[in-house]
Amino acid sequence: MEKIQMPVPLVEMDGDEMTRILWKMIKEELLLPYIDLNTEYYDLGLEHRNETDDQVTVDAANATKKYKVAVKCATITPNAARMPEYHLKEMWKSPNGTIRAMLDGTVFRAPIIVKGIEPYVKTWKKPITIARHAYGDIYKNVEMKVKGPGKAQLVYTDAAGNETRETIHDFTGDGIIQGVHNTEASIRSFARSCFSYALDTKQDLWFSSKDTISKKYDHTFKDIFAEIYETEFKEEFEAAGITYFYTLIDDAVARVIKSEGGYIWACKNYDGDVMSDMVATAFGSLAMMTSVLVSPAGYYEYEAAHGTVQRHYYKYLKGEETSTNSVATIFAWTGALYKRGELDANAALQRFAKCLEQATIQTIEAGKMTKDLALMTTLKDVQICSSEQFIAEIRKTLETLL
Ligand code: NAP
Ligand code: MG
Repeated sequence: MEKIQMPVPLVEMDGDEMTRILWKMIKEELLLPYIDLNTEYYDLGLEHRNETDDQVTVDAANATKKYKVAVKCATITPNAARMPEYHLKEMWKSPNGTIRAMLDGTVFRAPIIVKGIEPYVKTWKKPITIARHAYGDIYKNVEMKVKGPGKAQLVYTDAAGNETRETIHDFTGDGIIQGVHNTEASIRSFARSCFSYALDTKQDLWFSSKDTISKKYDHTFKDIFAEIYETEFKEEFEAAGITYFYTLIDDAVARVIKSEGGYIWACKNYDGDVMSDMVATAFGSLAMMTSVLVSPAGYYEYEAAHGTVQRHYYKYLKGEETSTNSVATIFAWTGALYKRGELDANAALQRFAKCLEQATIQTIEAGKMTKDLALMTTLKDVQICSSEQFIAEIRKTLETLL
């Protein structure tokens, strides 16, 4: 077979620990034998981020703006323990945070569904994709503990110096106060990313908030979504046969549990934080969750939802056998390759991406899987594979499909 050509590169962001090991195996076994892989490589491994004062992360995000498609390996977000481990000059910020801030995107997380890994919710047949607004609310809050009686007020001073005040509470004793905010610009980009991604993936879009209680704050989210839908997306949604649906967050939770899946659920920041962990767990495994950052300007960055699987890496360093699940990282690659193919009208590349996804799913459905899945599968007579063996088995299946 001739190797598939890729005239336009995609941005490749390498990462850390066990996922960095899987990254290399996936490229060598599943990609390079079949594709003349054209990537612009950025090493976001913590050592190199430290050497470049994190400039490499900024460069990788800028390259994503240039080429529109990126694939990213999981990376360490440094904490105190990582300072001596990697001799860090600074506690560098989360690369995902830096990239998201530069691309102004929304993260969509979706489970990969295979027979034998059954969702805990019996009715779920298709993936539920969660879109989490990634700016503001309690994640940018200002808080106070107050002592004794007193008046708390919200004060807004406009550019001309005029003040608007609202009383929050007249305290008669000790208490707590919290100030949160969001910006129209951020809510608008969030809404546009959600509508665009729904069209892209031909799925209905749900959005939920608590507008009945929060009549200005949450209601603004609801109004902006409705306005953008009516003025920019309604016709395309109707043509694509998909719908936009708004409901209260508590009603949404009830409907989600009773649904079959197969839609995007857009959530405010906190709701998305909580619901994405619930949905991931209920679908079976964090190792089977994909994640894509979609910017309103049309940039796509694909990755696995899980981290660097640190515990497995330390075993690997000791020379012990690991059984780390590479599925979400493989799907990050196939997502990016498929999107590259779509943007460049490269049908061969798109076909390859779909084949590799199919090969991965069929391998698991044939009973060959990593330990994390073996522990929860309903299939009988499964073979637990090491990290290497699992990828080798996928390659065998892939050969039969190509
Ligand atoms: P993690 O890497 O997702 O791993 C947590 C646990 O989940 C693992 O110890 C493992 O359980 C299980 N697991 C996750 N992915 C798996 C896979 N592919 N195959 C098998 N088991 C898997 O989260 P963490 O340990 O909290 O974080 C480790 C590092 O990753 C941190 O430095 C964090 O900053 C970083 N992180 C990065 C990203 C990102 O780049 N997007 C996201 C999250 C975390 P067992 O140990 O029980 O086998
Ligand atoms: Mg969370």
